[in-house]
Amino acid sequence: MVVSNSVKWYDSGKFLTEKRQFITDPLWHSGVYYVQESSSMILADIFRQLYGNDSPKQALDLCAAPGGKSTLLQTLLADDSILIANEVIRPRAQILKENHIRLGLSENLIITQNDPRDFSGLEEFFDYIQIDAPCSGEGMFRKDKSAVEEWSEANCQLCAERQKRIIADIFPALSKDGFLVYSTCTFNPDENEKLIDWACNQFDFKSIQLNFKPEWNISEVEYNGVFGYYFYPHKVEGEGLFVSVLKKESGFGLFRPSAVKRQKPVLIPELIESENIFNENGILKFETEILSAMKQSVSKKLNLVYSGIELGELKGKDFIPAQALANFHKELHHFEKVEVDEKTALEFLRGNDPNLDLDTKGIRLLTYKGFGLGWVKFLGNRSNNYYPKPWRIRNF
Ligand code: SAM
Repeated sequence: MVVSNSVKWYDSGKFLTEKRQFITDPLWHSGVYYVQESSSMILADIFRQLYGNDSPKQALDLCAAPGGKSTLLQTLLADDSILIANEVIRPRAQILKENHIRLGLSENLIITQNDPRDFSGLEEFFDYIQIDAPCSGEGMFRKDKSAVEEWSEANCQLCAERQKRIIADIFPALSKDGFLVYSTCTFNPDENEKLIDWACNQFDFKSIQLNFKPEWNISEVEYNGVFGYYFYPHKVEGEGLFVSVLKKESGFGLFRPSAVKRQKPVLIPELIESENIFNENGILKFETEILSAMKQSVSKKLNLVYSGIELGELKGKDFIPAQALANFHKELHHFEKVEVDEKTALEFLRGNDPNLDLDTKGIRLLTYKGFGLGWVKFLGNRSNNYYPKPWRIRNF
């Protein structure tokens, strides 16, 4: 993959110099990078403006699939902060889970599949909430022709009504002094600054003025004393985006889940020794104390899709590692690794059993350029491919 200069507002974001099929890049499968629209990366600068070197403790990304902004958010949060990444639409929640597992960025993650109204009972659970709202998509017209076809005045109105509902539903879940970062990819004022004005009139929110470098060409709009920021594609290096930040002014403060009594940790030779490894209904999981506490607090209200790191399962005496263990950024296992070339890596990712020449039988982690791809079991004369079937490359 060839990359050039950094995105102006986010050093770690690089522009590609050519279009390529990421599906045929083993590094994409290893979660070395995520492909994301550059305007969205402004989140990193907003985060810096709001928190400096500090971090919220309990963050929620309410409309998270496919996962661009929540994976970026994970890189910004402190190691001991929790992120709940939520997506209401079931198949999209699965995509969100897959993208988070592939990037393997943090153990303090819970993925949920809920309607915003389900969060209203979690009073002041979050000191940071991100709403990347479903919208009329005017900012995508240049990139995506179907966005033009789907546009109508009636749909813009519907979107604005839905956005109001989402904000009303989520207001109780934000703690006093917590921030709500609201974004859309439309230029429709009814879904943007007018909506923020409505939110400030309805709820105890204060609009926060941000300060971006003038050379970034981000356009500030002020409407009835509220602030919003437009990314116009003819002015910035990116697609259309609107973003605005609100601070909640009332409430009693952040709810902190109390510690829970945990079961006895599991010790198996293939995994590192840790107080955080448990057997949950046959699946071995890595789960930190703060994650267990949060999970306990939300599990009655939310539909949990994924939490902690799935390590694998015990089948008889054998431990079969899970894909998440291969992709996770910390090494939690003692399996041997086998470095392969690009051709073998792609064969493996297509689901074929790779041809390995090894001295001893057993499970190995295949790596490409040092990054974990997935698991194989070497049987002496052949090997079994454990790469998850739904993740395999088809038609390339
Ligand atoms: N933040 C995501 C990212 O960076 O990858 C993109 C989010 S996309 C703009 C908006 C998301 O809101 C979609 O995944 C959509 O399924 C979800 N959504 C649709 N209707 C919703 C509703 N009523 N409440 C909450 N989310 C909704």
